[in-house]
Amino acid sequence: MKAKKIGVNTICTHVGEVEDTQFKGAISPLFMASSYAYEDVDMKRYPRYFNTPNQEALCKKVAMLEHSQAGLIFGSGMAAVSTVLLAFLKKGDHVVVQKTIYGGAYNFMVEEFPKYGIEFSFTEGFSEADFISKIKENTKVVYVETPSNPLMLITDLEMISRIAKPRGIITMIDNTFASPINQTPADFGIDIMLHSATKYMSGHSDICAGAVAGSEEHIERIWNVAKNLGGSLSDYTVWLLERSMKTMVLRVKAHNKNAKKMAKWLNKHPMVADVFYPGLKSHPSYELAKKQMKGYTGMLSFELLPDIDANSFMKSLKLIKQSMSLAGVESTILSPARTSHVLLSTKERAHQGITDGLLRFSVGIEETSDLIADMEQAFETVLKKQLV
Ligand SMILES: *Cc1c(COP(=O)(O)O)cnc(C)c1O
Repeated sequence: MKAKKIGVNTICTHVGEVEDTQFKGAISPLFMASSYAYEDVDMKRYPRYFNTPNQEALCKKVAMLEHSQAGLIFGSGMAAVSTVLLAFLKKGDHVVVQKTIYGGAYNFMVEEFPKYGIEFSFTEGFSEADFISKIKENTKVVYVETPSNPLMLITDLEMISRIAKPRGIITMIDNTFASPINQTPADFGIDIMLHSATKYMSGHSDICAGAVAGSEEHIERIWNVAKNLGGSLSDYTVWLLERSMKTMVLRVKAHNKNAKKMAKWLNKHPMVADVFYPGLKSHPSYELAKKQMKGYTGMLSFELLPDIDANSFMKSLKLIKQSMSLAGVESTILSPARTSHVLLSTKERAHQGITDGLLRFSVGIEETSDLIADMEQAFETVLKKQLV
């Protein structure tokens, strides 16, 4: 089956199934064995070799969704990120990294790269000039994340591959926020797609996993390092992730729709100063998002008016939970200033556009009328509190 020939819902539901030859069940059986035969077999299988039947099957689904030849499943998003970076970088190499990336990936680079003699530079912004100015003789990788957290700024993927390809630089994207349903970076020439499958791929806030997609050659290079680093995922969780991914298109479309509605509603609200959602015409990256995304995700952020206590607003919410992670079917909200960006100084946060009144909203699949009602009552509660 070729990627273009079958629909994305069919890929999610069927591609890479493990056939139940014994009982003819309708779903993939789960093979939990951690020990397999080694004589007269096609392949020596072992969970940490990333090649058990369930792992192999799910890799096919990930690869096809990302319009790529091959894929690998990892024990977490960070296992994927760290393994992939170490597979392509060695002592004396340099990597250009987009200004705002996931905090864990940032920490990995800043804390671990110096130990391995790997050099890195963060860009000042998101433009072509920002990236080109950081490229050096020894640059081997350009690493981006789009949409970025929490302001949902977009990096031009076609531009990234255009500047990297002629220089022989490998391009990597953390595609977690978009999911392969909203964005397939391989179509724009990006080499390697990374995912925290903990987010939209699993979608129910009950799995921690990672995924990678790319060419067969690149995935083999990653596998050679992956088996040494050992970041594979338990087959039980692989099986659960396959189950989750069957409904990924349905979920992501519902998230997209709800987030757009909520973004529009928040944009008109008198107590909201600004809304950051790439599906809004007022967003600085709207045109770019339209060019390279099929949907604008369930993630948005908004800024309350400076005289409204953001913490008190969040505490007053009843349906929308305050929670660290994102992309579950339930709506969650957090304050970047108090969580992901807490270690930065107030000045540095302001420089990145992260005020104390900025809230990141992971819009779930509930009825938007209920989400709006919850926000309305929270705004009223805060107003009443602030008046007395
Ligand atoms: C959560 C997340 C990660 C890290 O994934 P884990 O599964 O927590 O290791 C990486 N990138 C982005 C954008 C994320 O949101």
